[in-house]
Amino acid sequence: MLKYCSECGQTLRMATHAAGHGYCERCQQERWDHPSVMLTCFISCGQKLLWIQRKLEPRSGFWAIPGGFMEAGETMAEGAARELWEEAGVRLDPEQLDFYMTGTITFINQVYVAFRAAVDEEVCLAGDEALAVEFFSRDQCPWDEVAYPEVNDSIREAYDDLERGVFLQYQGEMTEEIYRLTPIQTR
Ligand SMILES: [Zn+2]
Repeated sequence: MLKYCSECGQTLRMATHAAGHGYCERCQQERWDHPSVMLTCFISCGQKLLWIQRKLEPRSGFWAIPGGFMEAGETMAEGAARELWEEAGVRLDPEQLDFYMTGTITFINQVYVAFRAAVDEEVCLAGDEALAVEFFSRDQCPWDEVAYPEVNDSIREAYDDLERGVFLQYQGEMTEEIYRLTPIQTR
C-alpha cells in the first residue's frame, strides 16, 4: 500500500479516513493509490482452459490464467488480447473476446476484468514471461501449484460453465472477509 511519494520518495503523511491516500509535504501534493486494472483471459478448447506457468516473481513456477495489467491508451479487450499474445502466443482479435467476469479484489488493490473465448486448436507458445503454456482439463490442472488460489472459485466456475455449455457473466467481490461471485442479472 501507498507509503512514499510517487514523485520524490518522501514518506507520506497518510490520511486517516481513506486507505491509499496520503499527502507529500515536500511536493505539497495529494498522492493516491488507486486500484490497478487486471485483465485476464479464459481461453477454452473443448473442456480445457489455457494456463500459463509464471516465469517472473511473484509466484514463479506456479500456474495462472493468462493476464496482466491494463496499459494507458488501450481498451480492456485490447489489453486482454495483448496479454494473451505476449504471455501465451495466442493471437485473437479483441472483438473475439467476450466479457465474462468483473470485480474487486480489495486486499491487492485491484479491479479485474476477465474475458473468454473458445479456440478450435490447442495452439499456444510460451512468451517471455512464461515458462510454459498448456491447456488443462479440470482434472489435469495442477491445483496444488496454482499461483493465486484466492481466485480458484472463479476458475472452477469457468470449468462448470464449460461443462454445462452455458456461460453466464459474473460480478465478484473479494475482500479479506468475503468471496462472492454472483451471476449478473439482466432485467
Ligand atoms: Zn513528493
